[in-house]
Amino acid sequence: MTSRVDLKVGFRCNNRCHFCVQGDKRRALAAKPLAQLTAALESGRRAGATGLVITGGEPTLHKDVAAAARLAAGLGYSIIQVQSNGRAFCYERYCRALVDAGANQFALSLHGSSARVHDFLTDAPGSFLQTVAGIGNLKRLGQQVLMNTVVTKPNCRDLPAIARLLAGLGADQVQFAYPHLSGRAAQNCGWLVARKSRVAPWIKRAIDAAVAAGIPAFTEAIPHCLMRGYERHVVERLIPDTMIFDATTVVADFTKARQNEDKAKGPRCGACARFKDCEGPWKEYPERFGWSEFVPIPRP
Ligand code: SF4
Repeated sequence: MTSRVDLKVGFRCNNRCHFCVQGDKRRALAAKPLAQLTAALESGRRAGATGLVITGGEPTLHKDVAAAARLAAGLGYSIIQVQSNGRAFCYERYCRALVDAGANQFALSLHGSSARVHDFLTDAPGSFLQTVAGIGNLKRLGQQVLMNTVVTKPNCRDLPAIARLLAGLGADQVQFAYPHLSGRAAQNCGWLVARKSRVAPWIKRAIDAAVAAGIPAFTEAIPHCLMRGYERHVVERLIPDTMIFDATTVVADFTKARQNEDKAKGPRCGACARFKDCEGPWKEYPERFGWSEFVPIPRP
């Protein structure tokens, strides 16, 4: 049974993040019409979902995103999350419109503790100030704000400062996600992507900073063997069973797809104490960098 629907409403975006996994979809695909969104929402409810993530691309560029949230609330979705780069929320009136329509959780992204780092990674001047203002507006409206940071070479040393900044802004949760090496992240891999073993210590420091500030902190796509002592912060075990309405396809069970097709285990993983809990890295990572960093955790 599915507990969550991930609804991609279109692929346009007003950021041009150097690590974007969506590749050319932003140019190739039109926004989905409301009738298609309605059919997806109804189908998700029939499958048992009560959680919804409205995403893209950048969903706030879709003219019917408030209508979709309203429809979802009417269909009985209890968690209606908008996953966004956060820029549109610098307009308080827009925040109110989405909240009035039924959105009740906001997953935003910030990739630097300063405009210099964030705007460089998003390739969108002004995006840092807009997203920071957006977090403030949503918190003033009493909304839950969950933050995500994509971990790269240019920002890995900045992660603890990002955690402190987000805690100060009132974020309810932070997550540090290692990029999936497809789309622009694959094209820019050489200068953009740091090895997992190089970034893991910075992720741990950022988690320490968030926990010290009193907010939950997680990491995504960094396996347990690289997060020794921080295994409870590895997020994969907490991801709900999700049905994804992608550009032209539907992934009925994202957990299965992730574990059976999209991620991989290495030749030494069978000996690892965490073998059952761990999903391993996205398979593109060892295809590029090999398995040497993934050292099995000894069984007790
Ligand atoms: S199963 Fe493999 S990738 Fe996962 S924690 Fe163990 S060694 Fe690392």
